[in-house]
Amino acid sequence: MKAIVYNGPRDVSVQNVPDAKIEKPTDAVVRITTTNICGSDLHMYEGRTSMETGRVFGHENLGEVIEVGAGVDRIKVGDRVCLPFNIGCGFCENCEKGLTGFCLTANPGSAGAAYGFADMGSYQGGQAELLRVPYADFNCLVLPEDAQEKENDYVMLSDIFPTGWHATELAGLMPGESIAIYGAGPVGLMAAHAAMIKGASQVFVVDNHPDRLKLAAQMGATPINSLEKEAVDQILNLTHGKGTDRGCECVGYQCCDNHGHEANHLTMNNLVASTKATGGIGVVGVFVPQDPGAKNELAKEGKMAFDFGAFWFKGQQIRTGQANVKAYNRRLAELIHHDRAKPSQIISHSLKLAEGPDAYKHFDARDEGWTKVILKPAA
Ligand code: NAD
Ligand code: ZN
Repeated sequence: MKAIVYNGPRDVSVQNVPDAKIEKPTDAVVRITTTNICGSDLHMYEGRTSMETGRVFGHENLGEVIEVGAGVDRIKVGDRVCLPFNIGCGFCENCEKGLTGFCLTANPGSAGAAYGFADMGSYQGGQAELLRVPYADFNCLVLPEDAQEKENDYVMLSDIFPTGWHATELAGLMPGESIAIYGAGPVGLMAAHAAMIKGASQVFVVDNHPDRLKLAAQMGATPINSLEKEAVDQILNLTHGKGTDRGCECVGYQCCDNHGHEANHLTMNNLVASTKATGGIGVVGVFVPQDPGAKNELAKEGKMAFDFGAFWFKGQQIRTGQANVKAYNRRLAELIHHDRAKPSQIISHSLKLAEGPDAYKHFDARDEGWTKVILKPAA
């Protein structure tokens, strides 16, 4: 089968690799019809992780079940399914509690498992024609009758829509509250979409890319361009000096080539400053544990310094982590099905698998207009 394979830093190519197949009775094989490129792929693409060469990328996957193992009885051949990026077993103590991003079985001894991801098990990704899905009965979300018509919406249930939603949950957002979202990448835009649906009174989205901020504005959020004036000052001005009730970090580790390492602790300091005293902050941005090329010593180890004193004096809360996709995807699918959510609105490019390597270059450079790329391996 054809797949997007990691060859080394900033080098991926479409190659022929062995077909995905049933390896355990609880597996299914899915023919991928849509698979996305994610900001999380860039940590690996840029060579800042322990990702092995030869691995297939892709953790945002949707397709049709073409084969099931002998131990699978809920999922059937022909089902159209969306796969959460985290692989859960369904029966460990974390999965039992809905914390499927931290499954203790699928990647023993570590923090969760995912397709095509460094340090999250050896599972292959879905930027390919076929994908092996472990614990298929548990992980497959079977889509309703409009699965094909709304495929570009449903595919966002694999990661970024639940992740954006999770950011607002971690922050503790309640209807009528205000929120500032840092980062207008796909995840930040989905957090803004979630906040609008949840009934936030004011939604601010901070970034310095006008094309991405324009999408935030189209969702009904207030764009805050940090290049025009300090983001914190703009938010304080618009909240009568109080700051927002809630804040979200949807930036994560940004490579120095593009953004400078200051970005990491700047975002956290800005969040503390623009969130009201006793407010809540949700962090879903990923801070990769290693970057040998980093110019800053702390950044080299994925660490950062932020103003803990100001955070403490304001009595704020911070919550963090991977989104437990399964805790949200069923209900978010209902929102899509009943036209109450439209996550596909951020898609900028729908391309063939062969166009993937070029798309990685543009998305990694945050080239204007390259907001969210989806790939169609079956096209
Ligand atoms: P992205 O890199 O495309 O978007 C990040 C945005 O942040 C960019 O538009 C960039 O211009 C902006 N930015 C950079 N520095 C900033 C600053 N100081 N202030 C405000 N904005 C700034 O990536 P994405 O796909 O949107 O993902 C964002 C983060 O979320 C990544 O770290 C990704 O790994 C992570 N992520 C986490 C989960 C999870 O489960 N927790 C899931 C998916 C993605
Ligand atoms: Zn992702």
